[in-house]
Amino acid sequence: MSQIRQFAVKSKEASQLRRRKYQLVRRYGLPENLVGGSLVRSLRRCGRSNCHCATGEGHEQWSLTLSHRGQRRVERVPREWVEDLEQEILATQTYLEAIREVMAINLELLALTRQQNRETKRTSRAKKRQSKPRTPKK
Ligand SMILES: [Zn+2]
Repeated sequence: MSQIRQFAVKSKEASQLRRRKYQLVRRYGLPENLVGGSLVRSLRRCGRSNCHCATGEGHEQWSLTLSHRGQRRVERVPREWVEDLEQEILATQTYLEAIREVMAINLELLALTRQQNRETKRTSRAKKRQSKPRTPKK
């Protein structure tokens, strides 16, 4: 895998962001192209009276909206990036779903482990009681 072209910007700010990103990607074994949020298509009228949008359909506009730490951010997306981003959003959802499934399985394993431990304790207590040497009555 490698970085998608939509992230290929070159600047000082970008390399700082990338350093932090790959720190997280390496530490947690994350996919590097995670894309979250919702991709929205809207139709806008540009306001020019002689434009086709004044009477017909508006101009198509795409944006990606993501909330992070209570902040909502909306970014415009060029039409030619939409397919790639849709693919990454889908892959990201599949990845998050896998994480949620692992969490659910681990909860199930926790419950089963606890149940087994309780049963083991109960049977070993019962065994102890059975194997206790009886003191002969005089
Ligand atoms: Zn227009």
